Amino acid sequence: FFSSILMAVNQIIVVYPQIAKGMESIHSVSEVLLSTDTEGYEGTKQIGIVKGDIEFDRVRFSYGDTDKHVLEDFSLHVRAGETIAFVGASGAGKSTVLNLAIGFYRPTSGTVKVDGIPFDELDMRSFRHNLAVVPQSTVLFSGTIRDNIAYGLEGVTEEKLRRVIQLANLQDVIDAMPQGLDTMIGEHGGKLSGGQRQRIAIARAMIREPRVILLDEATSALDNISEHVVQKAMQELVRDRTTFIVAHRLSTIRDADRIVVMNNGRIAEVGTYEELIGARGAFYELKQLQA
Ligand code: ADP
Ligand code: MG
Repeated sequence: FFSSILMAVNQIIVVYPQIAKGMESIHSVSEVLLSTDTEGYEGTKQIGIVKGDIEFDRVRFSYGDTDKHVLEDFSLHVRAGETIAFVGASGAGKSTVLNLAIGFYRPTSGTVKVDGIPFDELDMRSFRHNLAVVPQSTVLFSGTIRDNIAYGLEGVTEEKLRRVIQLANLQDVIDAMPQGLDTMIGEHGGKLSGGQRQRIAIARAMIREPRVILLDEATSALDNISEHVVQKAMQELVRDRTTFIVAHRLSTIRDADRIVVMNNGRIAEVGTYEELIGARGAFYELKQLQA
């Protein structure tokens, strides 16, 4: 379920109060956005416009007090605007990397930096305004389609709304609705397909102009919306924005600038799709297993 919600981080409390309770795991990525404080981070430095350069330096991490390290010697420099896909077996630590990238957890040792500023020095709330979490299917609330896209934002111009609708491939959907943008959707609203809901989610993220996007793809084929229009919208969303994706779909993996293969809390391999296939290493083996 939680891999199916798109949330604009700074609005999440208002939009989805019910989600605040009883969540687990990547769910934690959504949760972090709810809280104004984060585990162990108490910095005060404000960050204005985020470029989205995120660097992990020799990060070691364990949940709680156990000796088991979920991440070990994890170093990775994600450049501003890069789309980076994480693949690997279940439990390898992929979702944990996303949790650390947004400061939900603090490393046991090592550092995470954004635009060169260590998270330890940063007021994490100022960073969060630049983040969006984009899970796979979408929670719509009862209201107009306009409200569902722009919820919580003030002074959204008609022009900006139109632009986002166009980029998210929603124009046809809206044109087909009886009252256009003012048609009621969501809980008690009209029926929308999974792909349409997902495009609304994409528009909702876009309009907030996040600099960093996190996406934990659903594993299940049921959630695998492969509509071309959705993929095009997604490409527009991630364009020029730093994007972390826990990837299961081949199309996502192929489109990534780099793929990080996780194994047992460590990076096994990093490279482009072609490089990793050519290397006949961990990624190649993983693909063979899945095929
Ligand atoms: P992946 O996303 O690659 O499947 P995760 O990052 O979710 O892996 O999990 C890595 C390891 O951390 C697993 O052993 C998992 O059981 C453990 N883990 C994940 N979340 C928590 C948590 N909130 N508390 C304790 N252990 C956790
Ligand atoms: Mg995971």
